[in-house]
Amino acid sequence: MQLKEADFISELTRVFGENGLGAMLSKERCEKFFSLTERMLEENEKYNLTAITEPSKIILNHYADCALIASLFPKGARIIDVGCGAGFPTLPLAIVREDLSILAVDSTAKRISYVEESARILGLSGVTTRVMRAEDGAKDENMREKFDFATARAVAELRVLSELCLPFVKVGGKMIAMKGKNAEFELAGAKRAITILGGKDAKIESFELVGGDEVLTRPVVVIKKAAKTPHAYPRAYAQISKKPL
Ligand code: SAM
Repeated sequence: MQLKEADFISELTRVFGENGLGAMLSKERCEKFFSLTERMLEENEKYNLTAITEPSKIILNHYADCALIASLFPKGARIIDVGCGAGFPTLPLAIVREDLSILAVDSTAKRISYVEESARILGLSGVTTRVMRAEDGAKDENMREKFDFATARAVAELRVLSELCLPFVKVGGKMIAMKGKNAEFELAGAKRAITILGGKDAKIESFELVGGDEVLTRPVVVIKKAAKTPHAYPRAYAQISKKPL
């Protein structure tokens, strides 16, 4: 599909504007979103990146969705994005917030090679990448409790996700889980896991994403890291998933 840059940028500007995100866009950032879209659609078959291929849907469900959480991070924050897949939320966040330093991790080498190359082509110098399983990486002293924030979108249910993410967050930092309509139910079930892992004061921030006539609720679970995670966690993935805390 031939994507026209002017049409794409006009739709991007409209959707971001409608969602109160317009101030995040500059000419240069619009061009980066356009290049990213061209690249993602070109490489989709090779890397199996996204089921969403219509540019207006990519803008709404990937770019605006990820940009919604940009306001949660203070200037210069150090973030680990766990299970970044095709680079969400890493790449949109890095486009609209050049000050952030984001380590994008995923267990799939192909996707990480795509994210790394995309960040290089777009000149997103705040992004670094690593192929790893989160539960292995969190045992590495160079990464354990070294981040201000751990983010994750569409990776696992909250009990499992807390064990994958909270060990990376330093005391005083936060885990940010971008969730779907089951967020409240998942949070109620994850209270024990969150406490065991050193989390506290978990709450849901409900963002709204406006798309045409629809208003989509985008719940984001924000968990404070109040105490160090005990060394027994994270466990091996089979245990985490079979016997969530
Ligand atoms: N966050 C992206 C998004 O919102 O489009 C990708 C979501 S995709 C459904 C889930 C991703 O999490 C996959 O790319 C998968 O490889 C990765 N993943 C799942 N469990 C993981 C783990 N334990 N460690 C690292 N990556 C993991």
